[in-house]
Amino acid sequence: MSDDSFLFYQSRSPRPFLDHGEGIYLFDESGKRYIDGSSGAMVSNIGHSNPRVLAKMKAQMDKATFGYRLHFRTRPSEELAAKTVAMTPEGLDRVFFVSGGSEAVESATKLARQYALTQGQESRYKVISRFPSYHGCTLGALALTGYAPLRDPFAPMMQAMPSIAAPATYLDRDNLSEDERGLKYAELLRDRIIEEGPDTVLAFLMEPVGGASTGALVAPDSYYGRVREICDEFGVLLIYDEVMTGAGRTGKFLAAEHWGITPDIVALSKGFGAGYAPLGAIIAGAHLVDPVLDAGGFLHGFTYAGNPMACSAGLAVLEEIEDQGLIDNAARMGEVLMAQLHILMDRYPFIGDVRGKGLLTAFEFVADRDTMAPLPPEMDAYARLVELAYERGLIIYSRRTRGGTAGDHFLLAPPLIITEAQIIEMIAILRDALDAFAE
Ligand code: PMP
Repeated sequence: MSDDSFLFYQSRSPRPFLDHGEGIYLFDESGKRYIDGSSGAMVSNIGHSNPRVLAKMKAQMDKATFGYRLHFRTRPSEELAAKTVAMTPEGLDRVFFVSGGSEAVESATKLARQYALTQGQESRYKVISRFPSYHGCTLGALALTGYAPLRDPFAPMMQAMPSIAAPATYLDRDNLSEDERGLKYAELLRDRIIEEGPDTVLAFLMEPVGGASTGALVAPDSYYGRVREICDEFGVLLIYDEVMTGAGRTGKFLAAEHWGITPDIVALSKGFGAGYAPLGAIIAGAHLVDPVLDAGGFLHGFTYAGNPMACSAGLAVLEEIEDQGLIDNAARMGEVLMAQLHILMDRYPFIGDVRGKGLLTAFEFVADRDTMAPLPPEMDAYARLVELAYERGLIIYSRRTRGGTAGDHFLLAPPLIITEAQIIEMIAILRDALDAFAE
């Protein structure tokens, strides 16, 4: 932390001042250029300084920057809700706006609970989540987050909620097929619901492709459908946290579409506002929302929810995603990127796994590919490679994997506007950083 700053964040490492952004690039005040290889924290899906978004926001700014939602309806919020529903699979047709991912997750769980109350299910309150997972840092979302270093200090302040293992099948050394492994992990949910008592379980919360805590963890295909079946069997609501995966990141508008799943509630943020505004949403079926409204309304809301500035940004972001064909580009460029990551894995023995979906990809370091033992924590590999890449003008995102207790993974998730030539440019810098790491 520099001596001239009164700010505090998670870390004290000094960073240069940001000057401006342009497409997939960011520039600091000295003029140094960085490839935004992680879209910030998987946020800047349509790249930086998009002229259409800026123009739409400026036009809204000239009219009104705020109108409280209980005093006025606004065109941007109505239009964004309609556009969101149009881009979302059938069955999800009610939208509630928030200003971020943690708010979206909290809103989803509170909507689930309020719906259960309208059905005379007062006993249902437990939300089962997964370990590892990341769902946010407010106390409600943190209570459902499987990431030990962030959660443990606050554990006494939260209601303990049950969790099951996330399907990290790349670590499994059994003789099962991928299909069988997917079903095995899904059955953990069934066992857990029975153990807890089905009439106490309100919902199951999962990231369809794991993000910050697991590094682009994709479950075997069989997992997704079986989880939906199990939730239906016990009347447990299925909540997809698509804060990171939503808005086209994985090559579909929602990751749920890859497996033909309709969750009961979906949480969105990050790429939905795409860095232009603090924005998030929950989308749910009318069958779930309307009983809550009929019973007197959703007992929940944030002052800035659905404000016209954020919604005008979100609307222009969705228009850009659609008009530029960015969802298809994410799917195509995701394949290019994944092929490049496989080449890196062939070259560096300490890369133990590469994985992902669309432009949400990751690689993980190991000490030994046979056992998948992680590198010793004192190596601080996750921080070191980030610095080596940063020095060379590439921003990547890393965390300890395995619930924050061990391991090092790195997310590569550039803006969805990236071209093949830019991916090659990004990988060349990454190779250089990996060579320096290997020395
Ligand atoms: N859910 C997921 C899947 C996330 O990745 C994040 C942010 N990393 C959140 C929730 C929380 O979002 P926010 O930081 O905007 O509160």
